[in-house]
Amino acid sequence: MFEQIKIILINTTHPGNVGAVARAAKNMGFKQLCLVSPKQFPSKEALDRASGAQDVLSQAVVTNTLEEALKECQWVMGFSARARKVSWPLLTARAAAYETVKRLKQMPTLNVALVFGQEQSGLHNEELAKCHSQVIIPANPFYSSLNLAQAVQIMAYELRVAILETEPEPLQTLKEDLEETLATTEEMEHFYNRLEEILVKVRFLDPQYPGYLMLYLRRLYGKGQVTRVELNILQGMLTAIQKSV
Ligand code: SAH
Repeated sequence: MFEQIKIILINTTHPGNVGAVARAAKNMGFKQLCLVSPKQFPSKEALDRASGAQDVLSQAVVTNTLEEALKECQWVMGFSARARKVSWPLLTARAAAYETVKRLKQMPTLNVALVFGQEQSGLHNEELAKCHSQVIIPANPFYSSLNLAQAVQIMAYELRVAILETEPEPLQTLKEDLEETLATTEEMEHFYNRLEEILVKVRFLDPQYPGYLMLYLRRLYGKGQVTRVELNILQGMLTAIQKSV
């Protein structure tokens, strides 16, 4: 399960934090790190802070956008202590770890992502909208914002505990058929873009006043964990609507 969990850091400003995250990840047995448009990378400070986890750092993938980082992912958790206007499905770090292990047991090929925001501004609404759940590390409500690497450390630890508690299971038959495979973030993004276009066309969505419609729709579809067969049906519906207008 460790190999399928990727840590994504968005726009990290302090290279020391990137190094400390690499160390936190490796300490807990994780090695997939992805940096979305970091301010400074590679960097000596990051290497110094990574200590014995320089291999994780040197294998880190750098992308320009969160979409690129999430392409293959199917279960995405966004980390933030802040409440939102449109509240997102919320899990504590511990519940998120057990939920992740449960999903990995159901689908051994699942690609999981943990998304962490920038040190000052945190995770933006558009970034959280690309996640299935918001995860909160329950801290002091009067001072709840942890250092980035410490937030990663806590979640990596919770995941390690949850994974190791699970008895190693005999290899299951891989559920590779369409019915059982979840749609990836890239496929869902393509669907949301088409859906938005068509809702504008049928005048259900006013592009001048979009409100939170797309955000609510993302939340709705995110709840279901859409499979590829279901996505094919949704795409087919959009095509039929497109043809009739
Ligand atoms: N000032 C920012 C917090 C930045 S801390 C804000 O108000 O949102 C850097 C990142 O660490 C956050 O974006 C988040 O991903 C993670 N983080 C820090 N404390 C957290 C907490 N209590 N729960 C969940 N994630 C947290």
